[in-house]
Amino acid sequence: MPDDASDLADRVQAGDLRLYELDDETDADTAAAARRAVLERETDADTAALGAFAFDADQAADTAVENLTGGAQLPLGVAGPVALSGGAADGEYYLPMATTEGALVASVNRGCSAITAAGGANARVTKTGMTRAPVFRVADVTEGAEVAQWADDNTDALAAAAESTTSHGELTDVTPYVVGDNVYLRFRYDTKDAMGMNMATIATEAASELVEDETPAELVAVSGNLCTDKKPAAINAVEGRGRTVTADVTIPQDVVEERFDTTPAAIEEANTRKNLIGSAKAGSLGFNAHAANVVAAVFLATGQDAAQVVEGANAITTVEARDDALYASVNLASLEVGTVGGGTTLPTQREALDVLGVRGGGDPAGANADALAEIIAVGALAGEINLLAALASRRLSAAHADLGR
Ligand code: NAP
Repeated sequence: MPDDASDLADRVQAGDLRLYELDDETDADTAAAARRAVLERETDADTAALGAFAFDADQAADTAVENLTGGAQLPLGVAGPVALSGGAADGEYYLPMATTEGALVASVNRGCSAITAAGGANARVTKTGMTRAPVFRVADVTEGAEVAQWADDNTDALAAAAESTTSHGELTDVTPYVVGDNVYLRFRYDTKDAMGMNMATIATEAASELVEDETPAELVAVSGNLCTDKKPAAINAVEGRGRTVTADVTIPQDVVEERFDTTPAAIEEANTRKNLIGSAKAGSLGFNAHAANVVAAVFLATGQDAAQVVEGANAITTVEARDDALYASVNLASLEVGTVGGGTTLPTQREALDVLGVRGGGDPAGANADALAEIIAVGALAGEINLLAALASRRLSAAHADLGR
């Protein structure tokens, strides 16, 4: 540890400096070393591994985290290659997955292999839009209805205000909801290659000022939870948020039998009884086996906002045994992904996006984020097929045991 980090840790412990004030005293690397020194002195922890990180400390402290102390690392594996034909992605892809769940990458890999042997999956983004829904206070329902009508009549003015804050974002629609003396305006934006939560929030603040100037409504909170960000919500499963994306594949029966030791009919039955009826009985928003596993692992690998796995789990898996084949699809209603901004600028996350060929802005803008959504959807499809097949062939626990987990 550098001497100055030790001295700074002394000053923190003496009460002369707060942890966050270290950034004003020194560079981000030294400040992080000083925080680790404080932790080591005040707890029994050894923080050597926390100090071994590959990103630029100044950049991380500026953009990604406060009280930078070190880096958390995860093992990363690749599944694939998987062949897919999408609206934006096309070709064979290795899927970077950061996880601590042994057997997950192997599971997705087996699904990818079957998809590729079948000639590849299809994928399409069918809806795009990041939402922010501020809540306004009004006198009563009469005033609420007037404000909702004003929003309907003035979408061009709202778009002009919102889009004055961004060169990429476009306001696509505003949906008003009136509940008693509350008005929620759900703004939806095409945020192109950005996941868009900062962009949509900043734009919505500007539009909300116009609402306050032109109507009696008073803004209470720029997020009124009807957005809905990072919480389970039916509105996302129904209306979509971020990207709504579907992947599907038809796998010949002989490929199913050879690779999975089961039949299309048995996989269909497992899907119907588990993913459809079981999920319905549970009141679940997710009618799938483990789509969140793939979403989470790729999110962590590629610098997405991990808390949005909540929305990424709004997925429906369908399976049909067709003439000598298995048809399977996964629909992810609200997959929130970006290839610019946020955690995508960190070094390992950039490399993972490079492995997929989708780092940075797409041509046209939005094409890279669409491609990332399609690739994740195909990864989720691979995971669904493999897990359902393992259940149908009663191989699930044996597969985990084979891998020593
Ligand atoms: P951001 O990094 O804040 O904004 C994206 C930036 O990329 C914008 O400055 C945009 O410029 C620029 N850009 C360049 N090329 C682009 C392209 N091809 N497509 C789109 N934008 C392009 O990221 P964000 O996606 O809006 O927000 C993600 C961050 O928000 C994450 O760090 C996440 O953790 C955080 N977050 C925020 C909230 C919140 O309420 N504020 C909630 C959840 C998560 P222009 O805008 O000038 O076009």
